[in-house]
Amino acid sequence: MDIESIRKEALDNLKQIKNKEDLDLFKKDYLGKKGKIREFFSSIKDLPIEEKKTLGQKINQLASEIEEIFLLKEKNFNKEEKEEIDLTLPAKPTELGSLHPITQVKREMERIFQLMGFSVVEGPEIEDEWYNFDALNIPEGHPARDALSLGKTFYLKGGNLLRTQTSSAQVRYIEKMKPPIRIIVPGKVYRYEKTDASHETNFFHLEGLLVDENVSVANLKAVLKKFLEEFFKREVDIRLRPSYFPFTEPSFEVDMLCTVCDGKGCSACKRTGWVEILGSGIVHPNVIKNGGLDPKKYKGFAFGLSIDRPTMMNYKINDIRLFHSGNLNFLKQF
Ligand SMILES: [Zn+2]
Repeated sequence: MDIESIRKEALDNLKQIKNKEDLDLFKKDYLGKKGKIREFFSSIKDLPIEEKKTLGQKINQLASEIEEIFLLKEKNFNKEEKEEIDLTLPAKPTELGSLHPITQVKREMERIFQLMGFSVVEGPEIEDEWYNFDALNIPEGHPARDALSLGKTFYLKGGNLLRTQTSSAQVRYIEKMKPPIRIIVPGKVYRYEKTDASHETNFFHLEGLLVDENVSVANLKAVLKKFLEEFFKREVDIRLRPSYFPFTEPSFEVDMLCTVCDGKGCSACKRTGWVEILGSGIVHPNVIKNGGLDPKKYKGFAFGLSIDRPTMMNYKINDIRLFHSGNLNFLKQF
């Protein structure tokens, strides 16, 4: 046998060492008193002195090379073994995840409305034009269709679309349920928007709908005031400002007295003392009719609010794009 083949064989064997037994066997086979390297030394003892010297040096080099790798391997094995059996070492800390801030706020909103007797329901994110527009009194050619949503709608193949508002669930549930209907529909909505610190293409809405006999604006105002007080955990003042939505008549923007300055005027409320918080109104008779009910008998109120915006207010988040950024530094704060 020559040096190169011993070397190759030894290195191959070293690579295949899997356990302590293999390690001991290797030591005996190569580095022990009757090992291959000693054997090689003995085999050259009768060679001429010069030749013996050169070859001897080469065998020594080989021996230290193999021993070095062997010792490293042995050290790693011992380390592994120690880690395996040392029960006194403290456990590695487990990283616990947390709920996304939007989920936390969404659940809190659901809790409050459930206390007031509303059921939490869902609607499909992929909608058709009927439920997203026509059933909500936004027929084709209606100027509101363009102004409100059409230019911002993601259309899908086959005439479907990604819902632009959770209101699209309204008629689905009027069709399905018998009054009194009290539901909230939290969920994702989609708009074709240019994104910036306050605009996203995908965000969360919460729709509320109540349908019964003798429903008035006073009922709407009471429910919203109660909700906002529970949510912000303080007394709040609200005002209803006339507005326009095709699916409600009359329609109102709901403003809340600024909680930062108590109405005195600050930068958060643009010096007006009021913060716009949601849109609402008395359900349009056409929407009640589209759901298969008699609008002479049944009335309702509806409201829609952003979940993202109050979440940003609650946690002082200044960029809506952080919500879907997947940024762990951001998420770990909640
Ligand atoms: Zn203010």
